[in-house]
Amino acid sequence: MSIRILPPAVAAGIAAGEVIERPASVVKELLENSLDAGATAITVEIQQGGLQRISVRDDGCGIPDDEVLLAFERHATSKLRSLDDLPEITTLGFRGEALSSIAAAAHVLLVTRTVNAEAASVVEAYESTTTRQPRESSAPGTRIEVEALFSTIPARLKFIRSPGAETARVRQVIEHMAMANPYVRFSFKNDLRTVIQTTGNGQLRDILSIIYGTETAAEMLEVTASSRAPFPVHGMIGPPDRNRPNRTGISLFVNGRWIQSPTMNTAVREAYRGLLMEGRYPLGALFLDAPPHVLDVNVHPNKREVRFTHDGDAFSSVERAVREALLEAHPEVQARGLFSPTSIDPQFPPSPRVFDFTMTPPQGAGAPLPEPALPGETERRGDDNSTVLAPGAQTQEMTGSTEEGMGWLTGEFRVLGQISATYIIAEGQDGMHVIDQHSAHESVLYYRLLRQWKEMAPDIQPMLDPLPVELTPEQLETVPLAQDMLTRYGITLEAFGDSTYLLRSVPVMARRVDGAKLVADVLEVVRGAGSLTPASHHGVAASIACHSAVRAGQTLNHQEMAALTTALVTEANPQHCPHGRPTTVKVTTHMLERGFGRA
Ligand code: ADP
Ligand code: MG
Repeated sequence: MSIRILPPAVAAGIAAGEVIERPASVVKELLENSLDAGATAITVEIQQGGLQRISVRDDGCGIPDDEVLLAFERHATSKLRSLDDLPEITTLGFRGEALSSIAAAAHVLLVTRTVNAEAASVVEAYESTTTRQPRESSAPGTRIEVEALFSTIPARLKFIRSPGAETARVRQVIEHMAMANPYVRFSFKNDLRTVIQTTGNGQLRDILSIIYGTETAAEMLEVTASSRAPFPVHGMIGPPDRNRPNRTGISLFVNGRWIQSPTMNTAVREAYRGLLMEGRYPLGALFLDAPPHVLDVNVHPNKREVRFTHDGDAFSSVERAVREALLEAHPEVQARGLFSPTSIDPQFPPSPRVFDFTMTPPQGAGAPLPEPALPGETERRGDDNSTVLAPGAQTQEMTGSTEEGMGWLTGEFRVLGQISATYIIAEGQDGMHVIDQHSAHESVLYYRLLRQWKEMAPDIQPMLDPLPVELTPEQLETVPLAQDMLTRYGITLEAFGDSTYLLRSVPVMARRVDGAKLVADVLEVVRGAGSLTPASHHGVAASIACHSAVRAGQTLNHQEMAALTTALVTEANPQHCPHGRPTTVKVTTHMLERGFGRA
């Protein structure tokens, strides 16, 4: 179709409004135009977070010379003619507003050539006036340069955060476009440095490895359309142990468009029910395809929100597809009834890779794990620290307890062993105690952190090599609010580049954990709970404790179990972990007697 201006009645019928809020919205609109133009390779370059310059170049169909001026008119589009077309819209754009809005907010240069044209047409648009420039030689396709965005609109600039935060938002847009268009080659250069380069080989996993890292992407499970679902859903989801404290790891698409959908989000959560702890979210990129007439994409001008005429269909399509993928990868899930809401195992399936056990003596960072002393061996080895759960105040008590040599702890518990590499079985005065090793350790570490906070004496482990951590725009905005509190917990962050911070130290207990994950999680906690609130304070401590605690699925030796049990009794709330889950399940002697008909 050629570009035409929509009649006023049509223009009035489509949701209108500001589409250009920040550099990332410019990039999104320009990328949508390139994709609608059938591009197979798109290069995005930005400078100063896009405020100084945004350039998008594609190898798409180009705009015919006699339409180039029209493209900048408001409601000029080649994608929609009348309101009747709206229900069948399959292009990403259709309102004809992007180019005119961008030209109203910046200095724009358009260079475009169709295959049949001999040279490219060049148009300069500035403060809503368009001027033709001499034609240029250029490859077929379109290049749009946007300079000095919002320089004439100070009110807009006020809402723009740092260039770093804007860069991160632009990156997010490009990542989602790349996920949705694996056959298109995307390259993204920020201040002349290439930060994203996809191959266009059609492999979603290759794109996810750029976004989540190669290791995580390799573990992701393929989702294929469920035969029992109304709409096909495909994509990839993370294994349950790769989770996050918020939904930022889940990207949802409907008919190739990155969208927000509470319905689909809830469906994902339901599918993982029983596999993730309360407040944890999986990773995933999920694509739902639905006939255009069951959707209303025309809700908001930024087209981010989608409504379904039948919410239930979208819900069950996503839930079934995700659940089937999980079941296929972990058939034991169903057998163990883990989909029931009551049995929650945050670490299922156990993953040996996440070994970050801190029950080792405080030696230098990265010191090899020492062979833990067996009970009774302590003195001979002259290594009276080897039962220490984690460096801290409890060295004395724990050493004392093992010196008893009999495995009795605090006169209350006798550790008998471990089952499922997850639970410690101990005998107490009134029966048997089954202790969840992760929850128990988490609880111990949590109370230890709160004590250190109160005493303003964090046990800090400086990093030998400070770790650069790349943050999302939201996380970047949270750093200034969270930084003081985090420092007092031992997490020191130092600004380093636009969207990167250097992690300079961590709490000693967290010295073996993935620092980038830890930082992301604690920032999300503060963002969610608000800075300087008790909830964020406790949330941060709980998050550090959770990261640092021994995982389920980790075999412990007797001495480690004894040390953990002692610490639980002496240092922590023995009943509950910081997330409110029980640390201990008790089977009383009386229950046993009743079960065996003795009482
Ligand atoms: P919309 O995308 O809603 O139609 P825009 O203002 O974004 O409106 O673009 C106006 C028109 O300009 C489009 O309909 C399309 O015909 C043309 N156009 C814009 N960008 C490109 C591009 N990169 N390649 C080819 N045509 C383009
Ligand atoms: Mg458009």
